Amino acid sequence: MQNAGSKELVEQVLNQDLCTVCGACVALCPYFKVYKGKIAKIFDCDLEQGRCFAHCPKTETDFSLLAQTYFGQPHNGNALGIYRRINASKAGEKVGSAVFQNGGTVSALMKLALESGLIEAAILTGSDGIVPEPRLVTTAEEVFLCSQTKYMAAPTVSCLNQASVDGHRNLGIVGTACQLTGVAQMRTNPLAKEDFEDPVSLAIGLFCTWSLDTRKFLNYLSEKVAIDTIISMDVPPPPAEKFIIKTDETTIEIPLSEIRSLILNGCSVCPDMTAEWADVSVGAFEGRPDWNTLIIRTEKGEQLVDQAVKEGYLVLDDFPSSSLNHLTLGAGNKKKRAGEKAQKEAK
Ligand SMILES: Cc1cc2nc3c(=O)[nH]c(=O)nc-3n(C[C@H](O)[C@H](O)[C@H](O)COP(=O)(O)OP(=O)(O)OC[C@H]3O[C@@H](n4cnc5c(N)ncnc54)[C@H](O)[C@@H]3O)c2cc1C
Repeated sequence: MQNAGSKELVEQVLNQDLCTVCGACVALCPYFKVYKGKIAKIFDCDLEQGRCFAHCPKTETDFSLLAQTYFGQPHNGNALGIYRRINASKAGEKVGSAVFQNGGTVSALMKLALESGLIEAAILTGSDGIVPEPRLVTTAEEVFLCSQTKYMAAPTVSCLNQASVDGHRNLGIVGTACQLTGVAQMRTNPLAKEDFEDPVSLAIGLFCTWSLDTRKFLNYLSEKVAIDTIISMDVPPPPAEKFIIKTDETTIEIPLSEIRSLILNGCSVCPDMTAEWADVSVGAFEGRPDWNTLIIRTEKGEQLVDQAVKEGYLVLDDFPSSSLNHLTLGAGNKKKRAGEKAQKEAK
């Protein structure tokens, strides 16, 4: 594994257009900043090794080390990563009424994690208008204000880095694969810092096939719709091939073929559809839009889910084998495509 500094991070990731703006390199030092969906280095730094490079999910990643650290077992390369069990799930009665992207499993688990004291605060992704904005939250009301999917790159990990600098510990975080790979790398303390303290107590992963370049997407949208009227977005599962935007007055369906040119290039080399470096991972349940697919990966994740069911925060159902086959195929295809693209780029 190469340990390098910000110069190499710029050469190998930013200049190669591989950055997915997860924010893992931001708020560690004064040099990297995020602004409107782009990360830039604003001053030179001559450190030969930096956490910016070591935490970045787009530099070389040691999956064996992550698997040992996270799960205490070797990396198996399975399409869905290491897990204990998979269920269908949705928010239970105890959660109350709020608007969620799918079944509300993510918000339900975060609410319970905060209310039970498992975590002291959570790093979530709210929005300023429709532009994703990371938030540190401490109450269920704030969790609900961050619900629903923002399909644009979000520098969520920068908020975790800042919270850690500010002395917060016992944090929860919700993130996509690139964001949580950055978090997982940080949690291995790759530069062996003596004063390192892991600030994370709970990681909830979001399935993700791709995310959009914020600036390109906003430009594109501004020609279609008054952006400040948008209230939600959704990508229904195949074969829909649509991107759906709801405004306060109407619903707009955009063919996915128009949206694909706005996907971040860095997503094309991401091998992880189900956010493998997490305690639990959550996605849509194809065919049941008000439910989630819930992958339980760690003992801590399983205990939280069991408690959530017992206390009425979550309802579970069986996950049919046909759905499992389909999910495994989709996740396997993402790994294959990413491997082929990475090999092509390396030539
Ligand atoms: C960019 C992106 C692409 C996705 N692609 C797929 C997919 O291909 N297939 C699939 O099954 N599911 C996908 N999902 C996950 C899906 O949209 C739902 O987030 C998931 O099913 C959880 O639903 P929920 O009702 O439990 O979420 P809610 O309870 O509504 O909570 C949503 C959570 O998502 C977080 N969030 C929102 N936007 C972002 C963001 N940009 N980055 C990080 N966190 C964010 C918020 O902090 C909130 O906690 C994607 C999510 C994102 C962010």
